[in-house]
Amino acid sequence: MSSTSEKSEPSGISKSVEGKTIRLLRGDITREEVDAIVNAANSTLMGGGGVDGAIHRAGGPQILEECKQIRAMQGQLPAGQAVITGGGNLKAQYVIHTVGPIWRDGSCNEEETLASAYRESLKLAAQYELKTVSFPSISTGAYGFPLSKAAPIAISTACEFFKEQSSVEEVRFVLFDAFAYNEFETALNVL
Ligand code: ADP
Repeated sequence: MSSTSEKSEPSGISKSVEGKTIRLLRGDITREEVDAIVNAANSTLMGGGGVDGAIHRAGGPQILEECKQIRAMQGQLPAGQAVITGGGNLKAQYVIHTVGPIWRDGSCNEEETLASAYRESLKLAAQYELKTVSFPSISTGAYGFPLSKAAPIAISTACEFFKEQSSVEEVRFVLFDAFAYNEFETALNVL
């Protein structure tokens, strides 16, 4: 894996991997000006707390309307899978909704399911020929996934994805608090 040119940004850091960019930012994902933001949804797709609630509040009712249509067509969204809607009132054109695993004790496929949530989201972005995608830290809020384990999974799944040809040129992780940011920075630094 080629990994070069780590540089400081005013509000984060970025690293070039396979000629693409991984960027870490602190902030609110609903304000991102990218092709798609990813929602850490729950299986109902009917909205919830945390980042899910923030995205629906900022994006307006159109996003929930599209989620309801998806739900009517395919039922609940299993953990590790992803679907896509428009971005409603957000600056992002699309919202990719994925469901991370609920952390139990680490013996219930949690790590594989988390990687799948990131991977399936990136595959959808590629299907839609999107270039820039912003992720929150999936599963590390209400779902209780330890950040020290989740951050390396998030970073390494993006790096693996970059090995394949796709439209996706930049993956951002938008971290809400300093602790999450630091865990992702540590994971990025050991690449
Ligand atoms: P999950 O149920 O997948 O654990 P949560 O929404 O509870 O999802 O938390 C996931 C992560 O998103 C947490 O680290 C939380 O701090 C973070 N988060 C909450 N709101 C925002 C936001 N507006 N932008 C970015 N991250 C957010």
